[in-house]
Amino acid sequence: MTMASDGADKALVLCSGGLDSTTLLARMVARYGREAVVALRISYGQRHSRELAAAEAVAAHYGVPLHTLDLASAFAQSDCSLLAHGQDPIPHGTYAEQGAEEGSAPVSTYVPFRNGLFLSAAASMALSLDCTVLCYGAHSDDVAGSAYPDCSLAFVEAMGRAIELGSGGALRLEAPFVALTKADIVAEGSRSGVPFELTWSCYEGADEPCGACATCLDRQRAFAANGMEDPAQKGRD
Ligand SMILES: [Zn+2]
Repeated sequence: MTMASDGADKALVLCSGGLDSTTLLARMVARYGREAVVALRISYGQRHSRELAAAEAVAAHYGVPLHTLDLASAFAQSDCSLLAHGQDPIPHGTYAEQGAEEGSAPVSTYVPFRNGLFLSAAASMALSLDCTVLCYGAHSDDVAGSAYPDCSLAFVEAMGRAIELGSGGALRLEAPFVALTKADIVAEGSRSGVPFELTWSCYEGADEPCGACATCLDRQRAFAANGMEDPAQKGRD
């Protein structure tokens, strides 16, 4: 991993409002200083605005500027269950229970090439803001089986190469969690004082996390593996 040595680097961090990208933001603020970090949240027509509000709260917590991109029109033709206009309910159960196996189709919450579009759009904004680093919080649990192929190591490496080439070497992609599990990320976030209570992971947009969708179950397991209670789940049964 490249470390900033001359203070010239400036980082744009893709912030979903979840705990992975929040822990990534904490790491980048610690490395570069908050004056050299900007956050980007992306509205893509998701079912609810909880994660956008969470990204705003997280950026405010770390005192970094927050930019917003609206890419919803790119997914207007998709019937993905994660989208506001999707007809299907959000599936319950883990990705494995949803049949996400090696070589199988992505899960129904896969938004078509979403992360590829996000990374391309974020790269464009990063260059406009004179950033030299684009930071992406993909991790290995999301690629278990083939749930989200646009979180895989091979995909991230290919996008990193494309971003480097397409920016004439002005911008590099960093995805330091790509080989880590969500439990590893909770451990790092805990050590660095990440305000987990501000983050939102659930695919549903109720007042409290549903506790039944795949990302809720992933999150529960990640905290349990660290012997911790999820502060965002307090008040649930
Ligand atoms: Zn949920």
